[in-house]
Amino acid sequence: KRRLEHLNFDNSYARLPESWFHSIEPQPLKHAHLISFNPRVAEHLDLDACQTQPQDLAHYFGGEGRLPGTQPLAMKYAGHQFGYYNPDLGDGRGVLLGEVVNQAGQRWDLHLKGSGKTAFSRFGDGRAVLRSSIREYLVSEAMYGLQIPSTSALCLVGSESYTQRLGMEPCAMVLRVTPCHIRFGHFEHFYYQKRIPELQQLLDYCLSRFYPQYQQAEQPYLAFFTEVARRSARLVAQWQSYGFVHGVMNTDNMSILGETFDYGPFTFLDAYDPSHISNKNDDTGRYAFFRQPAVMLWNLACLAQTLLPFIAREALESILEAFNDQQHTYELEIKAQRLGLHDCDAKAAELVTELWAWFKQEAVDVTRFLACLSQVPATELTTSVELMSFATQGKARLQAWLLAYQARLAQQSLPEPQRLAQMQAVNPRYILRNYMAEEAIRAATEGDYRLVNQLLALLRDPYRESSDLAHYAEPPPNWAAAICLTCSS
Ligand code: AMP
Ligand code: MG
Ligand code: MG
Repeated sequence: KRRLEHLNFDNSYARLPESWFHSIEPQPLKHAHLISFNPRVAEHLDLDACQTQPQDLAHYFGGEGRLPGTQPLAMKYAGHQFGYYNPDLGDGRGVLLGEVVNQAGQRWDLHLKGSGKTAFSRFGDGRAVLRSSIREYLVSEAMYGLQIPSTSALCLVGSESYTQRLGMEPCAMVLRVTPCHIRFGHFEHFYYQKRIPELQQLLDYCLSRFYPQYQQAEQPYLAFFTEVARRSARLVAQWQSYGFVHGVMNTDNMSILGETFDYGPFTFLDAYDPSHISNKNDDTGRYAFFRQPAVMLWNLACLAQTLLPFIAREALESILEAFNDQQHTYELEIKAQRLGLHDCDAKAAELVTELWAWFKQEAVDVTRFLACLSQVPATELTTSVELMSFATQGKARLQAWLLAYQARLAQQSLPEPQRLAQMQAVNPRYILRNYMAEEAIRAATEGDYRLVNQLLALLRDPYRESSDLAHYAEPPPNWAAAICLTCSS
């Protein structure tokens, strides 16, 4: 285990051509102080959590100190925003500090978000506010708890600097940790600038760094795209299965590792509503919950376009054509697993489809319903008062479903306690509902950081019943529906 000052940096991105980024120092926040630190993420970096002092984290990750070994830089990229190509993007309010290689040989990007203006800030102030930083910090851990690929966050630093969003708001910084900050938009940048040799260099860099197993493939670039598409299909299947709405699925927010990336106005659905739009700025509902799989495919087509100089069009098209089936299959598997169904056959598909149709009809809180279902023995399914309490108009439809489900479970050889344990391991009691983040934000704005830290622990393991935070498994309060999220969230 190492101290902060002795982390093992090896900055491969900084060795790429100079025109791919701008070197820039973070600009410090006033009175930076540590709000929260995540020892689970420290493990990735071989960082000795016990010897890490709050004031040192605030010093280095509040923009004041230059951590030995780092070479801060803002990455250049482009991307499609709400369907339109924007060549002028890049890290506008964050910097890649460097890459830590741990003893296991894994390489981790350290990205400081909210670190001030860069060459790519355009009209922005380069800052992130406490509100959005708390949301990103907490949801990163919530995703880990749900086993949905995501960037992580090592720490959250608050300050007495202020900037204008919904009124004057305090600024903060999050230290984002992930194997890769390369976006679909990186590829689009070189493609639309017709810098094809550099595009190839980027591809080779991605292959050697993230997908070395494909370097020996017959067609390495095709293998790369196939894998990015597969991971993206699986990711969006997980979002659909757990009610996650990303909110801003622009191609600059799509990771080539298939991780949930660049959190903004995201939402975990309370009541199941496929038409839910999480971002108030998304007038047309381009990124509504139900559209996410189609948008992911659209985004992959943008990436595929940039690979045309290297891969035959037909080969790329056939991968895109396979996307919908692949995504459906993943989604069905995950949903069937949430129901404790083993074989993903036609009957399982029917049960899944019918239940989710009922969720929609009744605007059911899926998280709460499935957490409840995971507690009920098969023999008691059709008489459970608790389960029935989720139905209003559709009682008969739920009864019919429970009967069919019960019959199906009887055909599985899995012992009851095992099935329930398996279901309880994939159906969380707690998700990061918007109102929970909002409560943590309100307390933190008053200087009380306990709830941020409590929610971090709760969401890391959302399956186990909590003694002091058990109320977060209850239905959300009425005011939750009025929470409004925008691009500045
Ligand atoms: P996003 O909507 O967060 O994906 O951001 C889109 C682009 O705007 C990226 O290039 C960001 O770096 C940039 N950006 C977002 N917010 C700010 C800000 N407050 N200051 C400067 N640039 C920003
Ligand atoms: Mg972005
Ligand atoms: Mg962003």
